[in-house]
Order: sequence, then structure tokens, then C-alpha cells
Amino acid sequence: MYGTGVLKGMAITLKHFFSRKRTIQYPEQMPELYERYRGHLYLEFEKCIVCGICSKTCPNGVLSLEDARDENTKKKKLLSYTIDHQYCMFCNLCVEGCPAHCLHFDHDFERSQYNRDDIKEVYHRPPEMDQVAPGTSTPGTGDANEPDPGLTEEALKKQKKMDALMTALDKNPVKLLSRYVEGEEDAQILADILQADRGKAEKLVELMADDQDKARKVAVAFVNKEKKQRQSQTEGGEKHEHE
Ligand code: SF4
Ligand code: SF4
Repeated sequence: MYGTGVLKGMAITLKHFFSRKRTIQYPEQMPELYERYRGHLYLEFEKCIVCGICSKTCPNGVLSLEDARDENTKKKKLLSYTIDHQYCMFCNLCVEGCPAHCLHFDHDFERSQYNRDDIKEVYHRPPEMDQVAPGTSTPGTGDANEPDPGLTEEALKKQKKMDALMTALDKNPVKLLSRYVEGEEDAQILADILQADRGKAEKLVELMADDQDKARKVAVAFVNKEKKQRQSQTEGGEKHEHE
């Protein structure tokens, strides 16, 4: 019959109009990422044992490292480590193969750049790894609170800002975090999250020192994710009681 197709089409339109929205208003709303989401590959420089397995494993030649022989210990030491993110296909082979567990993916996906070369990330050996603490013969055992003389003025400023933020976060988290999320309730949720995960706290503090807007987005995303998890736990518990 003439018009059946139109009716069918309208029925589908109406069904989708009232069903759950699949899209979000990014960047105002941040997507909820799965725990195993692979965003940004990063290195824990201090843990690397310079075995080179990662660079040999990577099928796309993303990873390269520069090393030298340590005069004191006669062991190899890492001088710099380069990750050319533009060629990474997120296969995870390097992470799985690293015997020192120093390569990881985090959830940061907002890493677009205007120039290709800026996508490349180069880690340089931190000077404190070669400092000899008084009374010891092993480098890298100096007082962690001492400002690093090898840092540039800008880096030193950032470090001071991060230290102050971390102190404020430890002393009165809700007061500090209220500036990044809506209301005290959300600030308390965020404080709980950061207390349970020091890595997240350090990352957020670094963003607060670098880019306030990005820090707000990340903070809101942390809170929204936690709220959703709590809600699904509550719903799961209620469902269980009814059964
Ligand atoms: S995830 Fe895969 S492509 Fe990316 S750096 Fe690691 S091994 Fe290379
Ligand atoms: S596999 Fe791990 S420990 Fe070995 S060089 Fe690569 S990052 Fe360093």
C-alpha cells in the first residue's frame, strides 16, 4: 500500500528519538573511557633497564633510545627515550614485552598538534639520576625535596606550583577541588578518587599547573565516571535484593 514505507520510516525515527542518546556534547562532556582504553603511551624513565626490547618489538619503529656506559657502575644507562606517537597503532606489544613494566598507556587522547614533529615525545635523563648524595656513592639518592639545580627557571616555577598544589590537596582537598568541579559534593567525590589513586592526583595537579581548562575537564570526567559507577553498583544491589 502506498505510504507504508513512510510510516515505517517515521516509526524508526520516533523509536530513535525516544531511545538513549549515543552521542555526547564533547568537549563540554568528556567520554567515559573503558579501563583498558589506550590513549597516550608514556615511559617511567627511572625504571627502564635499557634492554631495548621495546624498540625491537615495535612493528612501526615508534620507539628509539639512546644509551651510554656508566663509568662508575659499568652498566648501561638511558640517556634519552623517544616515542614518535604519530606512527603508533596502539597494538600494546611494547607494553607487554617490557620486562621492567615501565611502559604504560593512560587515558589521555587529546594530543593533536599542528606540526607533525610536535607529536614526538622525547624523555631526557633527569639530572637527579646522576647526582651523588652526600655520604653515598650511588647516584639518584639525594633529597627529593631539594630543588633540582639542573632544572630551567620555568621548570622550577612549575615544580614549585605543583608542590604548593599538592600540599593544598593534602591539607584541604575539598576547598581546592571546588574550583574544578561543580559544588562541594562533587569536590568530595573527586577528593576520594584522588586519595585512593596517587597517580591520578599527580596527573591532575600537573594539569592544574599547566592548563586550568583541561584540568577542569579531566576533573569533571573523573567525577562523572565515579558517579556512574556508584549508580550502577546501587542499581545492581537493588536488583539483587529483589531477586
Ligand atoms: S603500541 Fe605497538 S605500535 Fe605503539 S609503540 Fe608500542 S609496539 Fe609500537
Ligand atoms: S623494554 Fe622496557 S626496560 Fe627495556 S628498553 Fe624498553 S622501556 Fe626500557
